[in-house]
Amino acid sequence: MQIDNNSVVSFHYSVATTQGEAVDKSEAGEPLVYLHGHGQIVPGLEAAMKGKQAGDKFSAQVASKDAYGDHDQELDLQVPLDVFPPNVRPQIVPGFRFRAEHPTLQGNEVTFVVHQLDKEQAFVSGNHPLAGKDLKFDVEVVEVRAATTEELSHGHAHGPGGHHHH
Ligand code: ZN
Repeated sequence: MQIDNNSVVSFHYSVATTQGEAVDKSEAGEPLVYLHGHGQIVPGLEAAMKGKQAGDKFSAQVASKDAYGDHDQELDLQVPLDVFPPNVRPQIVPGFRFRAEHPTLQGNEVTFVVHQLDKEQAFVSGNHPLAGKDLKFDVEVVEVRAATTEELSHGHAHGPGGHHHH
């Protein structure tokens, strides 16, 4: 069976930047499972999966705009600590996440992560760590099957057999 919209696909992958920096991979025995055609994996990889079948191995180069998007300079910010309410201030440590409006695109909410602190300010970024990076995926398709009615109504896959839920 070839991968098409509403296929449930299990696959192993490893991903690196095109500069060769390893990013992530699936665990042995635990392929990633997704419902094809619903934007659950990055668009460039989803496009490359179409038409493949169980047992296929391939590499796909995915440009940043088809992966995690371009790096948005406006989302790397230095924020004075006194803009955070006093009760929130103790939580402002590296790794802390908060939602805020995009500095120039009104009405667009962005998740920011605190990366560093000094006495007066926090260095935060709303960019995905892989924003602006071109990626290379090495993929092995493990299983392709049709989605169950339940999976289609939920809009996501329910594991390799379609039985267990979340
Ligand atoms: Zn569900």
